[in-house]
Amino acid sequence: MTTINESVPVPDAESREVNEGTKANSTDLIKFAKKLAKKYRITDDKKFDLDDFPKDASSDLGKDGNVLAQEILELSVKALSEMQDKLYAEDKWSLLVIFQAMDAAGKDGAIKHVMSGINPQGCDVTAFKAPNAEELDHDYLWRCMKHLPERGRIGIFNRSYYEEVLVVRVHEEILRSQRIPGELITEDIWKDRLNDMRNFETYLNNNGILVVKIFLHVSKKEQKKRFLERLETPEKNWKFSKSDLVERKYWKEYMDAYEHLIRKTSTEKSPWYVVPADNKHYARIVVAAAILQALDSMKLAYPTVSKEQLAELQRLKQELLAEE
Ligand code: ATP
Ligand code: MG
Repeated sequence: MTTINESVPVPDAESREVNEGTKANSTDLIKFAKKLAKKYRITDDKKFDLDDFPKDASSDLGKDGNVLAQEILELSVKALSEMQDKLYAEDKWSLLVIFQAMDAAGKDGAIKHVMSGINPQGCDVTAFKAPNAEELDHDYLWRCMKHLPERGRIGIFNRSYYEEVLVVRVHEEILRSQRIPGELITEDIWKDRLNDMRNFETYLNNNGILVVKIFLHVSKKEQKKRFLERLETPEKNWKFSKSDLVERKYWKEYMDAYEHLIRKTSTEKSPWYVVPADNKHYARIVVAAAILQALDSMKLAYPTVSKEQLAELQRLKQELLAEE
């Protein structure tokens, strides 16, 4: 049997076959997803060290790893689609998935591939760029609050309020441009912001919104390779931005900021996942596993119909059948 790191058994070939009508959320897949997700999940670790987490773990999948990852992804996509249907039907829980990463780590690709089977009616993706004038007139959570998922839905944040302790921390001149009263800008500001984010997420959890936070952990070397690809391939030129090279120079500062925020804001119901991102196929199955695990923890089920409602449905059926 294939295993990931000798501890995560991969679903066998038969249960990996995705046919129309196959129930994809087989126990095998869910078990696999839970184990895989656990390897990269941080729920509470004051001593969390980014260096303890790999940037490439694809060799765990063996020599045809990319093919296997593709099969697992297909199966996961189907399971996600089935679970989303129940999430929507139940209309109680919701899920917020946050993606954070350095440039070219694969956020867009992960969102596109992992969410490819999701019903667009039940899902919203929001990308957060540098705030505009209206957004700067408000506290930094304001623009994010407006895009939180409604009950029964999945919300995806491509970047998020965590930029407030990343790019804003690395370039403190951005903080000064936020028009925050001067006396509030003290050495405690990052600690305070991280506390606020943790508390905000607890508030969301207490309202039935689970939060899955994904950090795509890519190496500086792999980023260089992907930037070169963007510069050398005409179809990818548009993806390259001069400012990406500037941010790359602050790699160490960004990694320190990521390490600190993961230490301070990882909780049981709003964990961080440090996803090895040098291999895109592997990264995507870990992202899918993290989302599957969160949806599974909601114990979703289609709403049941009472005896009276069932009798009413039968009566309506007869009425429809009796129609001229
Ligand atoms: P890609 O480059 O893959 O298309 P991206 O998410 O990097 O995707 P960009 O438009 O290149 O999109 O970058 C968005 C930029 O906005 C990032 O550099 C990010 O740091 C910046 N940004 C996001 N939120 C804030 C914020 N609150 N304050 C300042 N800058 C921010
Ligand atoms: Mg960018």
